[in-house]
Amino acid sequence: MTEANTAWRVAVVGSGPAAFYTADALFKSGVEGISVDMFDRLPVPFGLVRGGVAPDHQKIKGVVKVYDKIAANAGFRFFGNVCLGRDIQVDDLNAHYHQVVYAFGCESDTKLGIDGEDLAGVYAATDFVGWYNCHPDHRHHEFDLANAKRVALVGNGNVAMDVARILLASPDELAKTDIAEHSLETLRNSTVEEVILLGRRGPAQAAFSPKEIAEIADLANVDVVISKEDATLDELSQAWLEKEGARSQHRNVEFCTKQAALGEGEQSQKLRCRFLVSPTALSGDDGKLKAVTVEHMKLQADDSGTPRPRATGTSEELKVDLLFKAIGYRGEPVAGVPFEQRKGIVPNVAGRVVEQVDGPERVGHYAAGWCKRGPTGLIGTNSLDAKETVVAMKADHAEGKLLSPSKTDIAAVLTERGVDAVSWADWQRLDEWERQQGESRSKLRHKLASMEELMTVIAELRQQ
Ligand code: NAP
Repeated sequence: MTEANTAWRVAVVGSGPAAFYTADALFKSGVEGISVDMFDRLPVPFGLVRGGVAPDHQKIKGVVKVYDKIAANAGFRFFGNVCLGRDIQVDDLNAHYHQVVYAFGCESDTKLGIDGEDLAGVYAATDFVGWYNCHPDHRHHEFDLANAKRVALVGNGNVAMDVARILLASPDELAKTDIAEHSLETLRNSTVEEVILLGRRGPAQAAFSPKEIAEIADLANVDVVISKEDATLDELSQAWLEKEGARSQHRNVEFCTKQAALGEGEQSQKLRCRFLVSPTALSGDDGKLKAVTVEHMKLQADDSGTPRPRATGTSEELKVDLLFKAIGYRGEPVAGVPFEQRKGIVPNVAGRVVEQVDGPERVGHYAAGWCKRGPTGLIGTNSLDAKETVVAMKADHAEGKLLSPSKTDIAAVLTERGVDAVSWADWQRLDEWERQQGESRSKLRHKLASMEELMTVIAELRQQ
């Protein structure tokens, strides 16, 4: 690797959408001589685009073509397999760069915090998503789909939609994608017939996108079933939808009404959408989940008029074999980086990192993407988000409000420490290899699923 340019050196930690949009905005900032070094603890780039976006959503994954172009900038370098807090420290970044941007996302899951959450058969959607997407952190998970008929799925956001779709889709169709081979085998042996989606608010507040729920209704062998009672809006939601509802919320309500009119349907698999229910306890036999108790909710406006769920005091028990929690990602603290426990993010003001909420700025440090604002929004949301951060970075650069790096050669530091950093050229060779391997298996890509496999193949490809 060549030495970084010395005019305006930026380190970006993470290589998902927020990281690439930050790099893009920096290269387009009009400032001469900018260089961006992007670090990722994995040997492969693209964060949730590779490890989160579902394998049957290749159109969405196609956004990496944009990132490839960004990586083609002369000032860009990639350092994969380099973990902040393990291989390099914040002090190393301070010593080598004028500015540091944290764009490492939110890698953990939100807990329900109810009894029985540790029973066998209770899973985090984030683990399932990482598992079917070949994320090395999730290779070891096992999902007991071969002994399950009814599955509860808590939360009704787009991650829940992905989980429901992968559970209900035809494995033959999934086989053509880049889904993990270990997952495909499990999905082929699955006996799941019914997924019950548990939303704590009503159809007007459902977090799924209209397109995502419609896609499930379009699956062969699947009916999306919603009772008329569940599809009917309460007065508060009706008024709120009319006054404040986004187009997508109107479309979701229309979808639910339409599905309710269709009744049970005749397909062998069902996605049952329940609304105004919230899990309060999970119970099991011999340490294995058997049932989820859900409390019936009603909606009440909060101070801003937004309908929020409130317990009614009545509940019911649903017999289920498995339960997936899809109630959101959550950020984890990273060594040496400020962390706001309540929100699970890096505390910041419009992208400028602060030591703590309402605390002083940490000069030269910035945040972008989910670790800046929390785990919400679509991929494109990160573009606007990154632009805001870069506006702050550019202003600070112009003012000379920067770190004072005394060194320029981070690659030498990594070599000295015996860190086997993966370059962009390494990744490009692996990318090509995965595609070729996929082709010979009649699928789009054969993704490697463990750090060992990834590093071994990268090393072999370097020798060719
Ligand atoms: P999300 O959209 O925030 O949805 C979280 C869901 O969990 C909501 O239904 C929420 O209900 C519910 N929830 C939260 N805490 C709960 C609790 N304690 N008990 C019961 N329910 C609870 O999060 P996500 O699905 O993880 O998605 C994250 C972001 O990625 C979203 O912006 C999503 O659109 C995006 N994404 C997009 C795609 C795609 O475009 N294909 C795919 C995946 C993810 P409330 O609404 O009542 O809080």
